[in-house]
Amino acid sequence: MTVTSGLAPLDPSKLTVELTKKPKTPQAPEKLQFGKTFTDHMLVVDWTDTEGWQAPQILPYGPFQMDPASVVFHYAFECFEGMKAYKDSNGKIRLFRPDKNMERMNKSVAAICLPSFEGKDLTLLIEELLKIDEHWIPNEMGYSLYLRPTMIGTQVGLGVAPSSDARLFVIASPVGPYYPTGMKAVSLEATDYAVRAWPGGVGDKKLGANYAPGTRIQRMAADKGHQQNLWLFGKEGYVTEVGTMNMFTVFKMPDGKKELVTAPLDGTILEGVTRDSILALARERLDPSEWVISERKYTISEIADASANGTLVEAFGAGTAAIVSPIYNIAWKGDSIKVPLQPGKQAGALTETVLKWIQDIQYGIEEHPWSVVVN
Ligand SMILES: *Cc1c(COP(=O)(O)O)cnc(C)c1O
Repeated sequence: MTVTSGLAPLDPSKLTVELTKKPKTPQAPEKLQFGKTFTDHMLVVDWTDTEGWQAPQILPYGPFQMDPASVVFHYAFECFEGMKAYKDSNGKIRLFRPDKNMERMNKSVAAICLPSFEGKDLTLLIEELLKIDEHWIPNEMGYSLYLRPTMIGTQVGLGVAPSSDARLFVIASPVGPYYPTGMKAVSLEATDYAVRAWPGGVGDKKLGANYAPGTRIQRMAADKGHQQNLWLFGKEGYVTEVGTMNMFTVFKMPDGKKELVTAPLDGTILEGVTRDSILALARERLDPSEWVISERKYTISEIADASANGTLVEAFGAGTAAIVSPIYNIAWKGDSIKVPLQPGKQAGALTETVLKWIQDIQYGIEEHPWSVVVN
């Protein structure tokens, strides 16, 4: 059901807070594993199609009691977001482009008939959660608090129809740097025997249902010694994404310029916030007499040819978890496509530059409108 007039909107002023009676001690930062430990509190907001949004609640972190016939368990009424909160050197809490995550989450909920909300209202509620669990945000550079806004359909019953009830919740997990000992380039399997997303489908939304099937394909790549899949699309072998990250490739052009290329938003890729940020910064900061920035379709053959004739410069994945993930090898049709790396280096020059640009904004080292201070 879509929100119709007369239903209550998401209202941060109705927030109630119940603090935990059993606060936990955050783990030592160096012991953190991605997504394994959670803070003391969570945000929960319920919705019904007759009343709209109920009063938001911050509650002690803990299990939900749910009817086994809830539609989320049967028809995958679930979507999520991935974003982070950072501590800057002055101890201030910062979010990175939260409006983009809110915008994207509203597209995901719309795809499965869950209720929409004003992004600024959920951001305000997330900020309240952050203030309460502030001591869970690690201070060190490269560390952050991973936030997982989620919405599920909670109607009880096995009929296949839009859910009459929904729950929005946000949990938070302290995380360490993706590369504790410096960037590490990865090997990919160019995957053409499985399709992650297609135009007209929902692979371009963050629906939980898109991810479980990918784990089987990733395991097949892992069994052959590769860290990730390079998802191809169509008989042409269009390059779409790497694992659950957007893919960027740098080519040398005949006129001597370099081209930074990423696939266009045509339904075969997820609209990454990191992708959008890299494109915007590259267009703003790279010298146009030396660089061309392209959102265009390109194929695995183009990468293979460029590697063979020396015009492949570098390649990397991009997403919130790692920011960038450099690539050194792509297995394709029994061959190894080599992505060049300078001796002793694990990442290309642009990969390193982009990492610094984004990290400096996220941690407030460079003041930028994308970095939102939580007051
Ligand atoms: C989340 C995600 C990304 C990266 O998006 P960011 O907003 O940059 O974190 C890319 N591809 C897929 C499939 C994703 O789920």
